[in-house]
Amino acid sequence: MNNFTFYNPVKILFGKGQIASIKNEIPANARIMMTYGGGSIKKNGVYEQVKEALKDHTVLEFEGIEPNPHYETLMQAVEIAKRHQIDFFLAVGGGSVIDGTKFIVAAMNYEGGDPWEILSIKAPVTSAVPFGAILTLPATGSEMNSGSVITRVETQEKLAFGSPFTFPKFSVLDPETTFTLPLRQISNGIVDAYTHVLEQYLTYPVNAPLQDRMAESVLLTLKEEGPKALQNPQDYDVMANFMWCATMALNGVIRVGVPTDWATHYIAHELTALHGIDHARTLAVVLPSLLRYKQESKKAKLLQYGERVWGVNAGTEDERIEATIQATIAFFESLDIRTRLSDYEVGEDTVKAIVQRFHERGVKDLGERSDIQIEDIEEILMKSI
Ligand code: NAP
Ligand code: FE
Repeated sequence: MNNFTFYNPVKILFGKGQIASIKNEIPANARIMMTYGGGSIKKNGVYEQVKEALKDHTVLEFEGIEPNPHYETLMQAVEIAKRHQIDFFLAVGGGSVIDGTKFIVAAMNYEGGDPWEILSIKAPVTSAVPFGAILTLPATGSEMNSGSVITRVETQEKLAFGSPFTFPKFSVLDPETTFTLPLRQISNGIVDAYTHVLEQYLTYPVNAPLQDRMAESVLLTLKEEGPKALQNPQDYDVMANFMWCATMALNGVIRVGVPTDWATHYIAHELTALHGIDHARTLAVVLPSLLRYKQESKKAKLLQYGERVWGVNAGTEDERIEATIQATIAFFESLDIRTRLSDYEVGEDTVKAIVQRFHERGVKDLGERSDIQIEDIEEILMKSI
């Protein structure tokens, strides 16, 4: 097991009716900006619950944070929030609203030039305005981590940042808020969470059996509960278990002491930046191709994953690895998520454009062994067409 430091200060308020308790989590004299998306919270009673809980607080609303949140929109929120001397934010929605709010709180205190530098040149975040979150879409884990992914429309860039200052102070996870999710977003959430676990698990062994089994338990639970969530999206227990899986998949617990490989996410972000394809769908395209391409260096963990999660234990090592990748593809496809670039009408031109972007950005290598070079990214994407 590798050395690690673990820090996660997020207070989780889990379960039915927990939105009401946020009034005790936010200082009484706070000037709050409530941030949300395109209006789903106004159709499922979440908005009313938040307003009721905060009826004795001062709350300004900022509506319209879009999926794959836009820097341009978020900077409008920063401007309004500064004008109103906002000192607490409350993000209500999915990963996009929470990620967007992380950028807003960091940008509020940014003393350099344009806060975009936090993403473009990794300018350090040295403080941020505090914020809490109410999650309505199990998927990203953003509710219990400090990461954020922001899109700049003008330049078609989608970049990530994280800092110890951008953890939510608290996050409410009420499974009932998910009852109105469209099936497409449930499928997306399952695949995003599943991929988060695989990127922290399918690397190389470092003698960390507890980490391995924690990762496998999240994978097995998603495999079991995911299809149930699609069949019964209003089953409280199913959605509760799915919700907790998605949080556990990316709250830092399964990552400690083991190598991580975020290449799938980095490459996939480019597909969303260029074509607006849902985040999870881009992962489902890149992941199988990347696993095949890197199967030699990931061999031991691929074999273990196949055996423990998919019961693959017959054949040569190569056959077992291929059967394991096929089982993963079949799982994604069973959730109605297509796994080839051509399914999204994307071809060679986009692959060339992505390679060019990595060159321009000066990215040298990706992967847990830093052994994915730009030429490899091209191969991986070409093989996913
Ligand atoms: P999302 O973009 O937040 O939301 C997708 C859609 O679902 C929106 O149209 C939203 O509508 C709707 N929605 C949310 N909750 C709903 C509900 N309860 N009922 C009905 N509709 C609902 O989706 P997401 O998958 O959570 O977030 C994706 C973003 O997170 C991407 O930008 C991705 O790159 C990023 N991400 C971040 C991390 C991280 O660690 N920070 C990890 C992975 C991915 P409204 O807008 O109307 O609410
Ligand atoms: Fe993700």
